[in-house]
Amino acid sequence: MTDDKMQKIVSLAKRRGFVFPGSEIYGGLAGTWDYGPTGSLLKKNLKDLWWKDVVQMRDDMVGMDAAIMMNPRAWEASGHTEAFADPLVECKLCHKRFRSDKEEEIKEHENFHKGEKVEWTEPQTFNLLVKAYLGVLEDKQSELYLRGEITNGVHVNFKNVLDSTRVRVPFGVAQMGKAFRNEITPGNFIFRSREFEQMETQFYIKPDEKEGEKWFEYWKQNRMDWYLSLGLKKENLRFRDHEPDKRAHYARAATDIEYNAPWGWDEFMGIHHRGDWDLARHELYSGQDMNYTDPETGEKYIPWDIETSAGVDRSFLFLLLDSYTEDGDRVYLKLSPKLAPYKVAVFPLVGNKEDVVNKAREVYDSLKSNFSADWDDRGNIGKRYYAQDEIGTPWCITVDYKTLEDNTVTIRDRDTTAQVRVEVDKLSDWLQNKI
Ligand code: ATP
Repeated sequence: MTDDKMQKIVSLAKRRGFVFPGSEIYGGLAGTWDYGPTGSLLKKNLKDLWWKDVVQMRDDMVGMDAAIMMNPRAWEASGHTEAFADPLVECKLCHKRFRSDKEEEIKEHENFHKGEKVEWTEPQTFNLLVKAYLGVLEDKQSELYLRGEITNGVHVNFKNVLDSTRVRVPFGVAQMGKAFRNEITPGNFIFRSREFEQMETQFYIKPDEKEGEKWFEYWKQNRMDWYLSLGLKKENLRFRDHEPDKRAHYARAATDIEYNAPWGWDEFMGIHHRGDWDLARHELYSGQDMNYTDPETGEKYIPWDIETSAGVDRSFLFLLLDSYTEDGDRVYLKLSPKLAPYKVAVFPLVGNKEDVVNKAREVYDSLKSNFSADWDDRGNIGKRYYAQDEIGTPWCITVDYKTLEDNTVTIRDRDTTAQVRVEVDKLSDWLQNKI
């Protein structure tokens, strides 16, 4: 894979309504992106599949949707006000700032000033939390943070979840939502932005080494299998265990799942064994008891937490990169039908014959309530296929003159371009079976 591929993806994403640069008509806002008509559908499908997998299909998980703004004490407790920082260096020639731990970016910048001697400032720690003000006065009292990761809203509700449901350890809480970071160098399209979305599970277990190892391994494999089930190519995914000296001080174990991105292998999501760090700290800072009492043995303890933390936007980007296929002149996104923005597109063969158009509308309307469907009656069929291929629509249905005689339509397959004739009355079942 090359940078060229990344450029093709960025351009396709804009051209076909997946992702637009944030606030573009005002010259943009670095590190922000807007998901367009097709992108918002793909993103929603991704999140719905994730939710189904980690909440709906499991008896040991419940969901949450916590507030983005929290009492600032919560961020002191979790250590973010002190330690959520990256090492920042500044180029003395042009005053651009970089993360000193990103060697590739540093080298690239030195190459940019080829022929000149580049000097860097000493690394400074730079806190990534985004500040905001709440209330009518912009003073210290009303200062708070937009959440830098979504974890905290779950841990602070540990007791509420226990008291309002029938969960028992081991159990988990899943949540997805926006997070904000003052990234020093946002970049690689939506890979690193300042506003992004995470999908996380916090799985609470008995504080026991064997249990910890068992569940850590379980969640590693479980997440890898899920990504494979979305159709990502196995050879583009790998685990990378964090060396003990590279882990957060409280982490007992940490592994990333990495993707073979055009700029090299990079982090997709993390699986972290966080021990009792979060609950114990919230107990300390809030003064509230965070113990769990085993209903059978009466044993009291603060559970350990195995976390899985994935980026929605990074998953989205890697799905685009992974599914992008060139076949001669043809470009298509080989997305799993479960993820594709539209499952089906319906075309009248000609746009100016009323009975054909009416019949096509009837077919389209009958499918719309069960399948995300698109309609196109512009240009010729070839152009319509071309457009649907680029947004990954797995099947295109054409209503023609023959349909008016025998009530059958042509279905064209995105990956093979093969066409079959199917009765209109059987279309729903046909699609359902395929998806
Ligand atoms: P990195 O080292 O790449 O900055 P991180 O280790 O700080 O990432 P975590 O704090 O573990 O990331 O966050 C969990 C997940 O959230 C990441 O694996 C990634 O998918 C996503 N994520 C984190 N930061 C960003 C960002 N700035 N833009 C988009 N996604 C992000």
